[in-house]
Amino acid sequence: MPGCRATAFRIDDCLAVDAGGIASALPIDEQARLDHILITHAHLDHIKDLAFISESVLGRREEPICVHSAPGIIAALKSHFFNNVIWPDFTAIPTHSAPVIRLKSINPGDFRVGAYLVRAIPVTHTTDALGFAVSATGATVAFTGDTGPTALLWEELNRLERLDALFIEVSFPNSLQRIADISQHLTAKTLDTELDKLNRDCAVFIYHLKPAFLAVIEGEIGELGRPNLRVLKNGDVVCVDDGVATLRTRPYEPTSAVPSSTVVPPQSA
Ligand SMILES: [Zn+2]
Ligand SMILES: [Zn+2]
Repeated sequence: MPGCRATAFRIDDCLAVDAGGIASALPIDEQARLDHILITHAHLDHIKDLAFISESVLGRREEPICVHSAPGIIAALKSHFFNNVIWPDFTAIPTHSAPVIRLKSINPGDFRVGAYLVRAIPVTHTTDALGFAVSATGATVAFTGDTGPTALLWEELNRLERLDALFIEVSFPNSLQRIADISQHLTAKTLDTELDKLNRDCAVFIYHLKPAFLAVIEGEIGELGRPNLRVLKNGDVVCVDDGVATLRTRPYEPTSAVPSSTVVPPQSA
């Protein structure tokens, strides 16, 4: 709805996690600087702007943008999205050998993209879905993708050397717990029990709130009384420096001055 965008995160200027709003949010020259996109799963709110970034960057890059995900998700993108029916096959445009988009299958576990070490972790959703932990020198941040209550994600995050910020979904109000359970998403209530599975303190940023229930969900998250939780808004910027996560809450403007910031405490209670 107006004022909302589908899911996408950018890390520095070259890596993205999901592509739901990546073309709606970024100017074309910044879209063209993205070298890699990690896709959590193939639901439309996480992939739709792959269509538009493909057009935006055509003729603006020497190398393809690499789109990484699990084999089933990559196969779905190929069959159902870049299939010359729903959208032109930008994995072969302008040529097979030098396309705009290159799809790459990755298995759960660790792999490198550019300067980053990525850990892909299966989560619990209605389709193949991954969470990602992304590490660079001196910082690790993790993204749950869409998930209901899950187990392996927390085991893997608890095993990481460090975790500075966690980005986790909450989709529905507590009154729709049954819908959340069926569709394998979280409410504030199940967020609370999931976060109890994380054996470490870090700043937690919440996204994926269904637009029709924004105010109710935010209220229920506030009632949890956990000081390390923040609900993200469009264009928010999170800086991780020396283990401290700072949230800049002003909508993203590419040429603007530095916005005001709040430090998000890592302690969970
Ligand atoms: Zn989903
Ligand atoms: Zn989603």
